Amino acid sequence: MSVTAQSVWNNCLEFIKDNIQPQAYKTWFEPIIAVKLTDKSLSIQVPSKFFYEWLEEHYVKILKVALTKELGETAKLVYIIKMENTYGNKQPFTEKIPSSNRSAVKSQDVDIPLNNKSPELRNPFIIPGIRNVKIESQLNPNYSFENFLEGDSNRLARSAGLAVASKPGGTSFNPLLIFGGVGLGKTHLAHAIGVDIKDKYPEKTVLYISAEKFTQQYIDSVKKNNRNDFIHFYQIIDILIIDDVQFLSGKTGTQDVFFHIFNHLHQNGKQVILTSDKAPVDMQDIEQRLLSRFKWGLSAELQSPDFETRVSILKNKLYRDGVEMPEEIIEYVAKNIKSNIRELEGAIISLIAQSSFNKKEITIDLAKQVVEKFVKNTKREVSIDYIQKVVSDYFQMDIDTLQSKTRKRHIVQARQLAMFFAKKLTKASLASIGSQIGKRDHATVLHACKTVDNLSTTDKQFRKYVEDLSKKLAV
Ligand code: ADP
Ligand code: MG
Repeated sequence: MSVTAQSVWNNCLEFIKDNIQPQAYKTWFEPIIAVKLTDKSLSIQVPSKFFYEWLEEHYVKILKVALTKELGETAKLVYIIKMENTYGNKQPFTEKIPSSNRSAVKSQDVDIPLNNKSPELRNPFIIPGIRNVKIESQLNPNYSFENFLEGDSNRLARSAGLAVASKPGGTSFNPLLIFGGVGLGKTHLAHAIGVDIKDKYPEKTVLYISAEKFTQQYIDSVKKNNRNDFIHFYQIIDILIIDDVQFLSGKTGTQDVFFHIFNHLHQNGKQVILTSDKAPVDMQDIEQRLLSRFKWGLSAELQSPDFETRVSILKNKLYRDGVEMPEEIIEYVAKNIKSNIRELEGAIISLIAQSSFNKKEITIDLAKQVVEKFVKNTKREVSIDYIQKVVSDYFQMDIDTLQSKTRKRHIVQARQLAMFFAKKLTKASLASIGSQIGKRDHATVLHACKTVDNLSTTDKQFRKYVEDLSKKLAV
């Protein structure tokens, strides 16, 4: 069988597909076309310059491993950047740009796009072609200050939010970073600030967006080669609210673009409001320069509400829903569900539902049943820390040992298992997993996942480890 560009590339793709997320594979590898193979050098065509930069930044290691496997140590990768131009001219405009020396795989022939002017500002929220100058704020009017009840656990964050809402961009709370655990009201408070600003300053452009959606829009803009439009769009916002910025962990491209947007807004006196599930000091894999920006303003924590606050949140909810419930039952629920307001609301909603579906009176017994089921069924969030704890407990070692540099076989295996489960059970990137489990790099994590896969098919004892740990980690 003869070796062709296509056959080499197909083998590379097979390897890559096994080692990255399906969505990433689809986005970044499916559009690539293998063009030619000369000696040990494979040329691939990518849709745009940003596509090429993205591959270089995020996938160069895996590309190198894959290609070396196929063509040996002297393998080279050549990117050809393909851009459709609008003049029907099939001849691409070609220019050489210096090869990046960050990587051992060298990029050489880089055809850069002839026509990369962006004639109009594109709004990533709008389907192309449909003109719409007004930017929808994406705010949920049900999340207001009025129904964000005050307690010791949220007083600082709530009053900082109110201050920002009355003078957006005009206080020292810029950015305002609201942080705290799951279900403690970060999203609610962030919306409330936006809603209040819209109310007081109808002419200001407010935009709420989750960091996840922001990332997706950014990736799309790179794919469509309109990254500049994306940046410009965000630079005209007066109040930018980004929810769950911890999602940007390990996403250097998105962090980079956000850094530029942030600087622009901040310099122009625009308000930035961020939420995160961690304090800035605990954020992993967020670039230092971005972290230092987060600390410019105020970081305010939302803590778990105390009993009185939980009772008033429940009463308020019942009042708004027009439901009456005996005091005793409200207190029972508030006493038993402590850590999370979302769960608190969930329990009271299922209690109401249970009683109305089954035409039962709401009694303390019914409340007990519901709360019990509720507490049992609530999904725990698995964190990488938790995985490391479970794995090291299982092997009766402490976490420091698990993370240590030793090559002792059982410790290496424990570490590899922790990495494997972190990949399987969290959304963290390989790089982020590596840095949290003993400061290893992304290739080590990749290798660990492969090893665990292999060993669990060939080694019975090892398979038992995987099964036991799967059970322990089941959420
Ligand atoms: P997070 O974004 O921190 O995970 P959310 O903002 O989604 O949490 O809050 C979870 C639920 O708890 C929402 O329904 C929200 O309205 C409610 N909630 C949180 N804090 C309060 C509060 N102080 N008063 C009333 N409801 C609250
Ligand atoms: Mg939230």
